[in-house]
Amino acid sequence: MKKRIEKLEILDREIKTMQGVSSLLDWDMQTRMPSRGGASRADQQAWMQSRIHEKICSKEMGAALAPFRKKGAVSRLSDRDRALVRDAEKHHVRARKIPAALIDEMARLDSIAFRKWTRAREKSDFKAFAPYLKKQVEVNRKVAKLIGYDKTPYDALIEDYEPGATSAWIEEVFSGLKEQLIPLVKKIKRAPDPPSTTMLTRRYDVDKQWQFTLQLLGGIGYDFDAGRQDKSVHPFTTCIGGASDIRITTRLNEKDLRPAVFGSLHEGGHALYEQGTGKSIDGTCLGGGSYCAAHESQSLTWEDIVGRSLPFWRHWFPKLKRLFPEALSGVKLHDFYRAVNKVTPSFIRVEADEVTYALHIVLRFEIERDLIEGNLSVAQIPKVWNAKMKEYLGITPPNDRLGVLQDVHWSAGYFGYFPTYALGKLYAAQFFHFARQSMPDMDARISRGDLAPLKDWLSRRIYRHGKIYRASELIRRVTGKPLDPGYFMRYLEEKFGKIYKL
Ligand SMILES: [Zn+2]
Repeated sequence: MKKRIEKLEILDREIKTMQGVSSLLDWDMQTRMPSRGGASRADQQAWMQSRIHEKICSKEMGAALAPFRKKGAVSRLSDRDRALVRDAEKHHVRARKIPAALIDEMARLDSIAFRKWTRAREKSDFKAFAPYLKKQVEVNRKVAKLIGYDKTPYDALIEDYEPGATSAWIEEVFSGLKEQLIPLVKKIKRAPDPPSTTMLTRRYDVDKQWQFTLQLLGGIGYDFDAGRQDKSVHPFTTCIGGASDIRITTRLNEKDLRPAVFGSLHEGGHALYEQGTGKSIDGTCLGGGSYCAAHESQSLTWEDIVGRSLPFWRHWFPKLKRLFPEALSGVKLHDFYRAVNKVTPSFIRVEADEVTYALHIVLRFEIERDLIEGNLSVAQIPKVWNAKMKEYLGITPPNDRLGVLQDVHWSAGYFGYFPTYALGKLYAAQFFHFARQSMPDMDARISRGDLAPLKDWLSRRIYRHGKIYRASELIRRVTGKPLDPGYFMRYLEEKFGKIYKL
């Protein structure tokens, strides 16, 4: 069996190498490429993508996988080797089910739908985007049918982002969440003395913001010898070469401190996960962190649970104040802490706070599931969107730009991705509860800027495993229990109960 695994691993590492090259092309496009480089870059990327697809579908790959298809063949493998076979087999089978012509059609549709969406969003004109969204829904339904599914076509699509999760399970988790979050949002809305955020939107020199984000990244343990930070319009984390080249980006806004600070902490969290990949899987497709929800749980651990906590700012606020003595003159630590945790039902998902965020996701999940299952037509979306916003958050978007047109995902054909953002919050809270339990002095350490013990705990329990375990297995291994949204709700109730004196 060892020889067979080695054979498979050679192909797997080649795929990972090709993906790294493709990521480098993309990183360059988003951070450095001159504006006229777009057309040739698109050709280069299309070429790379079709080579990767060929490799995954190849006869060679089929032959390398064949011995593992025999009954009982994987039962004696280690967790690592079994995961290697599991993922290679899944990608091979799925890729072979989708004909090259359809892949081509999808790539073209993605690029045209993206352009139409960009323009439609600018003009807040849903009707201009609707025909392309309709095509995206049709194509994705076709893909789901080709791949196959037990209960609903939406399940087949989720599998790409969150293997093992199903529409029914997400529905169950989300409906419980909704029941508890809606009243909590209402309670917070009624609370007297809401935080003021005016100090966050004074003038903050962007060069100094940049310096501060670098300090923060160093503080959480990001390894600058195995990565770098650059600027981009939409922040992202990308793996160029295994755990030793994980790059991130952030964005700077002179009139708002939050995008840079929390953007860097968020991407830094993703990057710590990838830099922490265990040696035995580094350079294979199992490296670089688990699937979407677990990955998001690690960015949110640093952005929200740590990065928006009082102990964290006890250490960092004096440093921030030294960099921005004018903007923060007279501002007290506690007021700053309350400001970065202000809860307000708002239209835009990416600007939402910790309490309202998941409701934005529940809404998107319900709509995209119904679209893919054929229970909702594209023309009905704006009406349903606005009705759900009213029901969940008590507000109605004044136009589609602030409503249904705000996210890029559907234009890019991403159906099944949204739920992972909220699941990430749930996983983060449960993991963190257990991290805290094993380190009773955690708050004191964070207040001193000592974040290493937390990072070590996460590295040992989570980071080093990469994709060996799916989120549902990982959470059981780390916490001894399946995912329980109760941890997230208790985290919110405790934190915001104090902030808002509920
Ligand atoms: Zn993220």
